[in-house]
Amino acid sequence: MNQSLNDKDLASLRDILNDKLKGASFVESRLMGFEVLPRLILQLKKNGEACSECREAYLKTMQFVDKINLIVKPDNILIRKEFEKEIGLILKHLKKTHKIFPKGEMHTKILSISMAVAIVITFVYASINRYNFFKMIMLGWAIGVSIGFLLGKVYENSLRKQNRLF
Ligand SMILES: [Zn+2]
Repeated sequence: MNQSLNDKDLASLRDILNDKLKGASFVESRLMGFEVLPRLILQLKKNGEACSECREAYLKTMQFVDKINLIVKPDNILIRKEFEKEIGLILKHLKKTHKIFPKGEMHTKILSISMAVAIVITFVYASINRYNFFKMIMLGWAIGVSIGFLLGKVYENSLRKQNRLF
């Protein structure tokens, strides 16, 4: 199946993964990023037409799919580590070389940064003006989350328009 994969196979790729992942907990699958895996594979396949590193990553990822049921077993720490390391390297390559990101990643990142910055600012403001800390920090948190959510959304939208999300 490795070579005949195309966009309309995304669903069947998900089926294969779900089938192989039967018995693994939902949380476990989410934690290990299996949700992203089918989209990652299609992106690598697409990039692979022009990039040899992506082509290699695609083949490697398909090999992992073949043994995904082994990877989720809690006692197979070695193969699991190898899988996480490889996927990490592949994601890094996509970001660095192709400027492509998994859906939602930048949104989450922008949201957390904005939240942290707003809390720090209100914390400093509250200490200088001797305001009620708890109230100010709650306010900072709320402002940070709202701004971060919007900024993150705008940024992800622009990435989507440039075909830089998968
Ligand atoms: Zn590449």
